[in-house]
Amino acid sequence: ARDLGPGNLRMFHPSLQQSLSERIGLENELKEALVNGEFFLHYQPQVCAVTERVLGMEALVRWQHPELGLVMPDKFIPLAESTGAIAAIGSWVLETACKQLQDWRALGFGDVRMAVNLSAQQLLLSDLGESVQAALKRAGLMGADLELEITESVLMQDPQRSIEKLEELRSLGVRLSIDDFGTGYSSLGYLKMLPVHSFKLDRSFVRDIGTSEKDLEICATAVGLARNLGLEIVAEGVEDSEQAAQLRQLGCNFLQGYYFARPLAAYAATNYLMEERES
Ligand code: C2E
Ligand code: CA
Ligand code: CA
Ligand code: CA
Repeated sequence: ARDLGPGNLRMFHPSLQQSLSERIGLENELKEALVNGEFFLHYQPQVCAVTERVLGMEALVRWQHPELGLVMPDKFIPLAESTGAIAAIGSWVLETACKQLQDWRALGFGDVRMAVNLSAQQLLLSDLGESVQAALKRAGLMGADLELEITESVLMQDPQRSIEKLEELRSLGVRLSIDDFGTGYSSLGYLKMLPVHSFKLDRSFVRDIGTSEKDLEICATAVGLARNLGLEIVAEGVEDSEQAAQLRQLGCNFLQGYYFARPLAAYAATNYLMEERES
């Protein structure tokens, strides 16, 4: 028989075949989902490590699938990346997050920033700069109102090209943050060249900071590195007061995690801001 190559393994492997057809089903639905208005955003507060006042919100996309129910981004973003749907979904996220911030500005929340995640494919889109600029303009925002989070592993896929892209974005005045910091094996030499404002210390290091001497050491090293490079550092996945206290003591600038708030629906995020203002 002719060797059909690894792509044809699915013909002989029932479990793999099932996951592939499931995947193809979702792929088609993903294209419709935007038109059908099935995506929405949750917003998770980012607080000042010292005062615990909210300084930013991170937009996190969700898909309300008509039959499957709530689909989380880890499940569909990789799929959207491989099919190209990410371009449209990504610009919808950017537009929606900017409009939400415009609403918060109108309610008098003047210094809250919006953080938006960028995927690998998005970073490489040739018109990314234009669409960021357009989204800001439509919402009447300044570059500094927006922070773009890009994972370290995405940057490592094409280090030189990434730097050029980041420089283009930075010239718009937007803030740039390296997400999942510590998981991408960047060299110190490369990190030094990145035109970014902050690192987001990965949740996996924060999780065991209270029990693992090694993780505590990693967090301390990351904070020291950020400080030496003149950058700010955000810790994600903060789940209890002990972690918050330790990270504050290490010198983290911002904290984010369930301890402060879960990702919230738009109305709940607005309430969070209002309650904090009254307190
Ligand atoms: P991420 O950017 O690292 O986002 C943080 C994830 O950790 C979120 O999961 C958030 O809900 C979760 N999280 C926050 N605080 C805690 C905590 O205290 N404990 C624990 N265990 N988890 C916490 P989510 O919303 O499922 O998002 C997963 C990933 O999907 C994100 O990771 C991001 O890489 C990606 N993503 C989400 N929204 C977007 C988007 O609009 N565009 C792109 N390209 N990617 C997105
Ligand atoms: Ca993020
Ligand atoms: Ca992260
Ligand atoms: Ca992550």
